Amino acid sequence: MKQSFEEFEMLEKIVARLEPYADIEIVANSVKKNASFPLYVIRMGSKRKSAPTIGFFGGVHGLERIGTKVLLSYLGAIAELMPWDKMLHSILRHMQFVFMPLVNPIGMLEQKRSNQNDVDIMRNAPIDSDIVRWYHIWGGHRVSKYLPWYRGRKGAPMEVESQALCDVVQKYLFPSTTSISLDIHSGFGSQDQLWFPYAYTREPFKFIAQAYQLKSMLDKAYPFHVYRFEPQSVRYQTHGDLWDYLSLEQEKEYPRHFFMPMTLELGSWAWLKKSPKHIFSLMGMFNPMKEHRKHRTFRRHLVLFDFLTRAVVSHQKWVDLPSHKVSDVREKAISYWNLQP
Ligand SMILES: [Zn+2]
Repeated sequence: MKQSFEEFEMLEKIVARLEPYADIEIVANSVKKNASFPLYVIRMGSKRKSAPTIGFFGGVHGLERIGTKVLLSYLGAIAELMPWDKMLHSILRHMQFVFMPLVNPIGMLEQKRSNQNDVDIMRNAPIDSDIVRWYHIWGGHRVSKYLPWYRGRKGAPMEVESQALCDVVQKYLFPSTTSISLDIHSGFGSQDQLWFPYAYTREPFKFIAQAYQLKSMLDKAYPFHVYRFEPQSVRYQTHGDLWDYLSLEQEKEYPRHFFMPMTLELGSWAWLKKSPKHIFSLMGMFNPMKEHRKHRTFRRHLVLFDFLTRAVVSHQKWVDLPSHKVSDVREKAISYWNLQP
């Protein structure tokens, strides 16, 4: 019997609805014994390689189903807007959308964080942290695949899913002069958090000045937004983060382009406070369980998606800053986030 699960079926339905408006690609397949799932990438908008680009990623950790669901709900709205919304079409003339809503389908099928080979995709890149201690097992380890946060064997090629995500970013985001990615996770903290690199070091991100500018723009435009916006290393340090790895690769391949990977970490502890008995359910630790809370989560981040899309199209205002301004803002940012200069 063909194995399947709710999110994958929803994804295939959305793909069919978007077919007339989008380029749909299967970039790899996740395979285990008798289960095989295509990894879908959906692209819409400008065909210019250099066009500003925003990439949305979800379902990297199989337990964190809500990230995939939030993206599917957003794609569902886009599919409904496409036939009539002139504003959406006019913005898409200037930029490109890239969606990879389900990176680790077999992890989701099997209700586990890692992939079919028990590797944690977000610890799988060939990059070592200078701040993760040996006992910080959640930061990634090579002790045993039977423990969570396993990085994979040293020197082994990246897992199919990790490689596919990197290929998509390298192919569609790197050639763009200005790109942002947003990777949605859940399960850490009680507040919704927006992280930018790095996770492996406390040194400031190459584009920390622009990250600070973007935060100020968000604070001014939406003073009541719900996010804590900071470098990931302030909260959570890891080995093998794909986004750290991609940031460093981008710098080598396209040093003049701007690429800011962001992670949206949905604060699942707030859902647990409201329904404490869900702490005893594996799904409840990482996902809202009540229907109304799921719906609220689908709505809650639309303003952010819209804001990031506008920001990427209007990059001249905050990315392409004069060099004296960059050093001023960089200093401010380093002291604001208390990093090592
Ligand atoms: Zn995660």
